[in-house]
Amino acid sequence: MKDIIIIGAGFAGLTAALYAGRAGGEVLVFEKAMQGGQIVFAGETENYPAVPTASGFELASALYAQAVKFGAEIISDEIIRCDFSDVKTVYTKDKSYTAKTVIIANGASHRHLNCDGEKEFAGKGVSYCATCDGSFYKNKTVAIIGGGSSALSEALYLSNICETVHIFHRREVFRGEKILADRVMSAKNIIIHYNSEISKIAGSDKVEAINFNETETLPVSAVFISIGMQPKNEMFSGYVLLNEEGYIITNENCETKTKGVFAAGDTREKYLRQLVTAAADGAIAGAKAMLI
Ligand code: NAP
Repeated sequence: MKDIIIIGAGFAGLTAALYAGRAGGEVLVFEKAMQGGQIVFAGETENYPAVPTASGFELASALYAQAVKFGAEIISDEIIRCDFSDVKTVYTKDKSYTAKTVIIANGASHRHLNCDGEKEFAGKGVSYCATCDGSFYKNKTVAIIGGGSSALSEALYLSNICETVHIFHRREVFRGEKILADRVMSAKNIIIHYNSEISKIAGSDKVEAINFNETETLPVSAVFISIGMQPKNEMFSGYVLLNEEGYIITNENCETKTKGVFAAGDTREKYLRQLVTAAADGAIAGAKAMLI
């Protein structure tokens, strides 16, 4: 039996592994997708303290190496079931693993727009990651949907690659950080459409246009949907309290209602979802879990 099982190798999970590993813990980390989590796909980060600029990939790679250096064992597999009633047990498709404690650091996944054409053109011009797919649309006209910091920073990223970037936001004020909004507003090749609701993404075998505000159509080669994230915590609902949006409620030590079950990072109810807060959660959860 290990000391800690960590579900998710994003910034929170890997920081928890680093702290627990340095405290002498035996740690297993499970990741079903990309080690490093969402940050791998982020462009330049310039608000991680004491790091003026770095790419998400650089930060994630450095943290991954640091966690492994202190003994974290990373398993590329998906947890599909769990039992946290006594010994903490997680199940993959083929195996089960046990530990004294568990840290849920599974992040959150992209929210969908649920408009016509979104599913049909997924991977054929509809994307949820500008840094992953932006380069396919060099010198083309693209659309990005959303008004938060993610949509704003992705619009800026795309503006360096694409000829024109149209940003569609459903309200008249951006939700994202002012510094990003100011840059978007002053970018020469970004056109802002406030108070705009997307009704359809249209095309034949790939995206060709976007329909908005019922009657308007704009020809575009791609649509990047960046309207926030949503958690996936149903599997843990017997052991943790979830808020209305499905985020895990913890105390300030990342403890849930079940002894030995912690939650860290974006999966947790919190005011600010940033790298620095994910890292802080991971540090607290990793250190606290070692005391059980
Ligand atoms: P977010 O802050 O929740 O913003 C989501 C945006 O999508 C909002 O503008 C929202 O509109 C819009 N939206 C939601 N559902 C929609 C729908 N069905 N149709 C149309 N629009 C919809 O999410 P985020 O931008 O992904 O950011 C998540 C967190 O990461 C935030 O804490 C953010 O500060 C942080 N972040 C920071 C940076 C950075 O560089 N510092 C970069 C990326 C992310 P309304 O405004 O009308 O609600």
